[in-house]
Amino acid sequence: MSVRFGIQDNSFFKGYYLPCAKWRNVQIGEFQKQIETLYFERDKKRGIEGTFRWFVEEVGELARAIRKQDRENLELEFSDCLAWLVTLASLSKIDMEQAIKRYIKNCPKCNTTPCSCG
Ligand SMILES: [Zn+2]
Repeated sequence: MSVRFGIQDNSFFKGYYLPCAKWRNVQIGEFQKQIETLYFERDKKRGIEGTFRWFVEEVGELARAIRKQDRENLELEFSDCLAWLVTLASLSKIDMEQAIKRYIKNCPKCNTTPCSCG
C-alpha cells in the first residue's frame, strides 16, 4: 500500500509513490496513515496504556522546550507529540481526519470564528 504526501495536486507525480518527496499540504489523515505504516504493529503490541505513557512523556519534553524557548527542539517536540497523538487515535480506532471536522468551520461550542465563548 502506497502512501502519498501532498503531491495529489501535481499531475506529473499523481499516483506515484515518492517516499522522499518534499512534503507539502500534508493532510492529517495521510499523516495518521504514515504513522500507522511506521509504528502501528509496535504500538499495538505495547498497548494503549503504555503508548499513552510515551505520549505523556513527549508532552513533558514539549513543555521543557516551550519553557526554555528552545527553538531547535520545538519543531521536533511538536511533531513527536502529534505523532504519538495520532497513533493513540489509531489504537482507539479513531480517524483523525473525521474527528477534526468539527473544528473546520467554526468553534464547535459557540459556532463562531474566532471563538467567542469567552
Ligand atoms: Zn467558542
